[in-house]
Amino acid sequence: MTDFARTKALFHIPKGVIYLDGNSLGPLPLAAKARVAEMLADEWGEHLIRGWNVAGWMVQPRRIGDRIARLIGAAEGTVVMGDTLSIKVFQALAAALDLNPDRKVVLSDSGNFPSDLYMAQGLVDALGRGLSLKVVEPEDVEGAIDESVAALMLTEVDYRTGRLHDMKALTARAHAAGALTVWDLAHSAGALPVDLSSADADFAVGCTYKYLNGGPGAPAFIYVAPRHAEAARPVLSGWMGHEAPFAFDLDYRPGRGIERMRVGTPPVIALAALDAALEAWDGVDMTDLRRASLELSDLFIALVEARCPDLILATTRDRDRRGSQVSFRHPEGYAIMQALIARGVIGDFRAPDAIRFGFTPLYIGEAEVRAAVDILADIMANRLWDTPAYRRKALVT
Ligand SMILES: *Cc1c(COP(=O)(O)O)cnc(C)c1O
Repeated sequence: MTDFARTKALFHIPKGVIYLDGNSLGPLPLAAKARVAEMLADEWGEHLIRGWNVAGWMVQPRRIGDRIARLIGAAEGTVVMGDTLSIKVFQALAAALDLNPDRKVVLSDSGNFPSDLYMAQGLVDALGRGLSLKVVEPEDVEGAIDESVAALMLTEVDYRTGRLHDMKALTARAHAAGALTVWDLAHSAGALPVDLSSADADFAVGCTYKYLNGGPGAPAFIYVAPRHAEAARPVLSGWMGHEAPFAFDLDYRPGRGIERMRVGTPPVIALAALDAALEAWDGVDMTDLRRASLELSDLFIALVEARCPDLILATTRDRDRRGSQVSFRHPEGYAIMQALIARGVIGDFRAPDAIRFGFTPLYIGEAEVRAAVDILADIMANRLWDTPAYRRKALVT
C-alpha cells in the first residue's frame, strides 16, 4: 500500500491553505527547493559551462524522460523532455500527419484544451495541402473516425469537466480506420494510471507542472511509439535534435529515436526542479493513487450535493469515465471561487461557469476534503461570494 502520509510530508503547503488546484499547478516539493539551490550553487556556479558534461545537463532531457515514462506505461527511451506542451502538441501532430500523407483531416473534440486546437489549426494552415481540423463533441468522436482522418488528436481528460476518454478503444478504432493518434496527457500523467504501450498510442504529450509538481512553466514531454521512432520526421528541426549537434553540419540529420524530438537548449534549472519533484513518485502505486483519488472525489461530490443545492455537478458520477478533478457549475462561479480562495480553499474557475477542484492524494486526504466543503457550504448558505470585489476578474483565473 502506498504511504500517502509519507508523500504529503514531501510538499510545502502554506499554512491555512487547502490546496485543490494541483491539477493546474502542483505545490512545491521540498526536494525541488533544495535541488535547485544546489544546482545553482554547485553546478552552474562552480562548473560553469563544464556542467553540460560533468553535471549531465546534456542527457537530462532523456534521463528525466525515462522517469516520466514509468508513470505513463512507456518503454525506456521513448520519452524526452523540453519546451512547453503547446510546442509538443505541434511537433507530435506534425509527425503524425507526415506519416499519414494521403489523409486530410485532423480530428479532435470540443473538450480539448484550446491551445491544442489553436496549435493544430496553425499547423494545418501552415502545411496547406488541403488539410483541415475537424472538431466534434466528445461523445461524437468515435462515430467521426473514418477513412479521411489522418490523425486523431485528443486530450484524455477534459480540463473543464474531468471527462475521461477511453484511450485504448479510441486508439484501436483510429487504427482500424488507418488513422494515427496523438494523446495529450496533461490531466492524466500523475492523475491516474496511463498505459501508452497497451493502448498502442502512436504519439503522446503532456506537461509536468500539473499533477507532476514540476513548478510553473516546467518543461513538457513527448512520447513516440517505438515503431515510429526512426520514421517520425521532426518538424522543429533544432540542433539539439540533430544526430550530431556538435559537428555543426550545415545539413540537418535527425537524431536517433526520441532524441530527434529535442529542439533547442534544455531548460536545465527547470529540469533540476522537475527531477527532484519526481522523487515523490518513488514507491507510489498508481492503482492506490487512483483508488484514493476516486474516493476523495466521491466524498466531495456527496458532501457538496448534500450541503450546496445551488451547485450543479458538471463531472460524471461514473468512476470509470472521469479523471481526478470535479467541477460544479454556477452562474456566479467566478465570485464563489474568489470567496473560497479568500478563505484558503484554492481551486480555480474555468469559463463560462465552472468551479474546479483537483484531488491529488499525494498531499490531499479526507480531512482536507471535509474542511473545504465546510467552508464552501458556509459561503453558499450565507452568500459570502456576493460582493463586487469577488467579481473582478484577474489575469489568470
Ligand atoms: C495545461 C494544458 C496545456 C498548456 O500548454 P502550455 O504550452 O504548457 O501552456 C495544453 N494542453 C492541455 C490539454 C492542457 O491541459
